Amino acid sequence: MTNNLTDKIVSLAKRRGFIFPGSEIYGGLAGTWDYGPVGALLKKNLKDLWWENMVERRDDIVGIDAAIMMNPKAWEASGHLKAFADPLVECKICHQRIRADKEEEIKNHEKIHKDKKADWTEPRQFNLLVKAYLGVVEGEQSEIFLRGEITNGVHVNFKNVLDSTRVKIPFGVAQIGKAFRNEITPGNFTFRSREFEQMEVQFYIRPDEKEGEKWFEYWKNNRMDWYLSLGMRKENLRFRDHAKTERAHYAIDATDIEYNAPWGWQEFMGIHNRGDWDLSRHQKFSGVDMGYRDPETDEKYIPWDIETSAGVDRSILFLLIDAYREEGERIYLKLDAKLAPYKAAVFPLLANKPELVNSAKKIYDDLRKKFMVAYDDRGNIGKRYYSQDEIGTPYCLTVDFRTLEDNTLTVRDRDTTKQERIKISGLIDWLNGKIQ
Ligand code: ATP
Repeated sequence: MTNNLTDKIVSLAKRRGFIFPGSEIYGGLAGTWDYGPVGALLKKNLKDLWWENMVERRDDIVGIDAAIMMNPKAWEASGHLKAFADPLVECKICHQRIRADKEEEIKNHEKIHKDKKADWTEPRQFNLLVKAYLGVVEGEQSEIFLRGEITNGVHVNFKNVLDSTRVKIPFGVAQIGKAFRNEITPGNFTFRSREFEQMEVQFYIRPDEKEGEKWFEYWKNNRMDWYLSLGMRKENLRFRDHAKTERAHYAIDATDIEYNAPWGWQEFMGIHNRGDWDLSRHQKFSGVDMGYRDPETDEKYIPWDIETSAGVDRSILFLLIDAYREEGERIYLKLDAKLAPYKAAVFPLLANKPELVNSAKKIYDDLRKKFMVAYDDRGNIGKRYYSQDEIGTPYCLTVDFRTLEDNTLTVRDRDTTKQERIKISGLIDWLNGKIQ
């Protein structure tokens, strides 16, 4: 597969209703994307699987849903206001941003790309946070920021979560939600957007180096295994440990999980040992005690945070790229059945035979109570297979004349194109078994 794979994905995404350019009829809005009917299903499935894995199946993580708009002091505390207020230039090769006045750093950075010609954007007074104005009276509105990452909403609720639940260290707080960044150079389809979604767990632990190392390793492996469990190809995933020099000053350890994208290895999630940076800063700026008293030892401390931060949109993009297959004329998405927008599609062999249509509709109505399923009676069977293949539907179920005699139907497998006959009475159990 070639470098135009991204173009093929962009075209498939538009053609079949995964992802459309934002505000397209008005010429678009750079860095924004709209998920279409099947894209919204795929995204929902991914987030549901994540939530199930992180919150529903664990005793040590609870979930929250914090506001996008926060008191601006929260961004002062987290360092976002200061860190993003300098004039920055951005390397057009790797998007690293450097303060325009740091000549030495710029020169050193160019050495990293020694085989390519260095190219920088014009310096800009650059605030990554997106501003908004709140209040009804013009001129008396207060300036706020749309959150640049979803982390802050979790840390500011640390005490609320402690006081309202029975969690004990070590425990995590999970959240999924939108974040906004004034990216200088959005691009590579949804990879770098200005509005995107994140899924994160802040996992609070005892402030101890060994404990930090243990949980950092745990979360690295746990997250890699999760992406593998979604069917991503192992050879397309890798860890990239951050060197000490590229980490934020408070970060004790940092690793990205990268995907082998058509434009090179790219980060789509990070695991960070953030120490007590966030809680200490919020304690300092808010004056609220963020200490935790260990119920067993009575020791009081500010916990450390091991963060796992994944991009929903980058995960979707790389899942699509990873699943894309071409076999001669046939294009199909080899999406794991758990993720596939539709688990099955039901067809009557012929649309003009009421007995076939009635039987197919009845099967469709029974199945849709349990699964997301599609129904299609347009064109010929070949065309219907083609369109379901392109959206990754794992099974196509065809009702034919034999169905009327023996209550069986044909199941056609997306990946092998093999067909078998199964009994309608066992269909729900059969499909359930296939999407575990
Ligand atoms: P990059 O270096 O690519 O700008 P980052 O290191 O700033 O990313 P984080 O702040 O660690 O990213 O955010 C965690 C995750 O959020 C990323 O791994 C990515 O999946 C997602 N993310 C961050 N910025 C964007 C963006 N502009 N568009 C889409 N997803 C993003």
